[in-house]
Amino acid sequence: MSRKTVFVDSDILVVGGGMGGCGATYESRYWGRDLKIVCVEKANIERSGAVAQGLYAINCYMGMQWNENQPEDHVRYARNDLMGLVREDLGYDIARHVDATVHKFEEWGLPIMKDPKTGKYQREGKWQIMIHGESYKPLVAEAARKAASEVYNRIMVTHLLMDSKRPNRVAGAVGFNVRNGDFYVFRAKAVIVAAGGASHIFKPRAVGEGMGRTWYAPWSSASAYALPILAGAKMTQMENRIVLTRFKDGYGPVGAYFLHLKTYTQNAYGQDYEAFWRDSIEKMVGDYVNHHPVPTCLRNHALLEEVKAGRGPIRMVTKEAFKDPHKETIGWENFLGMTIGQAVVWASQNIDPKEINPELTTSEPYVMGSHATCSGAWASGPEDYAPAEYQWGYNRMMTVEGLFGAGDTIGGTAHKFSSGSFTEGRIAAKAAVKYVMERSNDRPEVSEKEYEQLRAVVYQPLENYRIGRNEIVAGTVSPSYILPLHGLQRLEKIMDEYVVGISSHYTTNEPLLTRGLELLAMLKEDLSCLGAPDLHQLQRAWELQHRVLASECVTQHTLFRQETRWPGYYYRADHPRLDDKDWHCFTLSRYDRQTGRWEMEKAPVYHIID
Ligand SMILES: Cc1cc2nc3c(=O)[nH]c(=O)nc-3n(C[C@H](O)[C@H](O)[C@H](O)COP(=O)(O)OP(=O)(O)OC[C@H]3O[C@@H](n4cnc5c(N)ncnc54)[C@H](O)[C@@H]3O)c2cc1C
Repeated sequence: MSRKTVFVDSDILVVGGGMGGCGATYESRYWGRDLKIVCVEKANIERSGAVAQGLYAINCYMGMQWNENQPEDHVRYARNDLMGLVREDLGYDIARHVDATVHKFEEWGLPIMKDPKTGKYQREGKWQIMIHGESYKPLVAEAARKAASEVYNRIMVTHLLMDSKRPNRVAGAVGFNVRNGDFYVFRAKAVIVAAGGASHIFKPRAVGEGMGRTWYAPWSSASAYALPILAGAKMTQMENRIVLTRFKDGYGPVGAYFLHLKTYTQNAYGQDYEAFWRDSIEKMVGDYVNHHPVPTCLRNHALLEEVKAGRGPIRMVTKEAFKDPHKETIGWENFLGMTIGQAVVWASQNIDPKEINPELTTSEPYVMGSHATCSGAWASGPEDYAPAEYQWGYNRMMTVEGLFGAGDTIGGTAHKFSSGSFTEGRIAAKAAVKYVMERSNDRPEVSEKEYEQLRAVVYQPLENYRIGRNEIVAGTVSPSYILPLHGLQRLEKIMDEYVVGISSHYTTNEPLLTRGLELLAMLKEDLSCLGAPDLHQLQRAWELQHRVLASECVTQHTLFRQETRWPGYYYRADHPRLDDKDWHCFTLSRYDRQTGRWEMEKAPVYHIID
């Protein structure tokens, strides 16, 4: 079937209109008054991205105007939580600018809760401020819409385009309209990828009819990683997946409960178990367990060990706090504003937190760069602050010329969350505009051959289905194709069992990882037989492709790092301890799309802040 090809030329192309992408679009206009700025998004920026799940707090705000925290404090906090390994230059860069971003949100109309006595923003915790989050994404999207020359909604970007003469220079992107099927060729002088993190690469706890219920947004489908990986960008810390302790069955967050309602956890026998595990954790990770706050992974570890010891379930003690009607309201509102599903689960399971202490559990792992974890692309740091080894060009430029990133896309910088991701989008955009302006005569060339080849590849699943559907043997089973859902379930099973998630107690070793890579290679082979009955499934097919490539990267990194750096997130049973002597470093990978091979290396961690 012939499909229209739409060509779009721009100076700056922003891929993904979530928090990072909206920040990038907004700031590109500020510095590049006359530039053509295009934002392309697979959903609709009005409500797209992880924050579309609803937020109740902005999790990254220093409060410098009230001398609450300084950027250095945030770097120390993130470094501690990530067991020593963060890009301090990038984290500091976000922390020093994030307050200004939040003040803009308020100017644009975001309702931020205030302490009636002091007039300061209402704190939920040391870094979090409380908001009425319903309008958050539409407000941010409005700023991006007004700044952009054009916003293209409903276009799924599948590949980046490279310059026809310079193989390491980005030149644009291709994708398709998920509603009418048109093929899009975006040509750009600089590209900023802000396409969100990765859920559904490990088997979720909720399967079958509950399968869409994951903690991280189910539509975060790893494009932030697959697009740069395919373009040859170096990636970092991809082994550093996150596992979250959450309310059971609904993934309701616990932050506000711990921080604001001051609830706490107990084992099935009403005992405090965390202290019990302290000494054994110290044997694994040394002094990191004595740091304050105790790193998130170590708290997970104590919970997991307690359950393995047969003293589960672990419960959040809510009965005391919920006696206070104000706290009870906050507790419910927290879910209604952010995770309505948890309130529904409690209602359906007869759980009234005033009467019953609800169960907690650990989630399947997720891969992302903006939450309490730092997987993503290896980026150049700020000129005034980054060590020489972390600078090879423009701030937030990856190791591919002209390719920038923000939010979940960029690695090494945990704890940026929504406000930090928007801020990082702004930082990346400022640098990308500078990059474009300093090269006014540099017009990357896109070869017709390349995008025509990609066009055939992109629509192949529709073709596979069209031809193969007559051979269906039963239901959805066909000898000629696999459906995206089948491929996804196969991926989740491999990752769960070999690269390790919930059903293997997050524990792997070299033989398991090696076998996992073999199985992933077989899955990749079969992806050429993906069949898509319609455009919706074509999108699912490309989301799966992106998830599989990101998963392969995660597996390579997990194999490379021969230690257990983050017990509670995952364990290398063959290297069960933290090893600062050999592994106080970043892991880097680079994928060669011609050969399909991965190169791995270490990069030093520089501690800039004491
Ligand atoms: C359940 C949950 C709770 C959270 N709670 C908080 C909180 O309380 N406070 C807080 O500050 N932060 C919170 N966060 C974190 C915050 O949402 C993220 O840090 C932030 O959204 C990351 O920004 P991003 O731009 O990297 O990704 P996103 O905001 O997810 O944006 C990515 C965008 O890219 C688009 N996209 C993806 N693939 C493609 C493609 N191939 N082509 C085109 N477009 C594509 C997506 O549709 C999306 O719009 C939470 C996140 C979740 C999931």
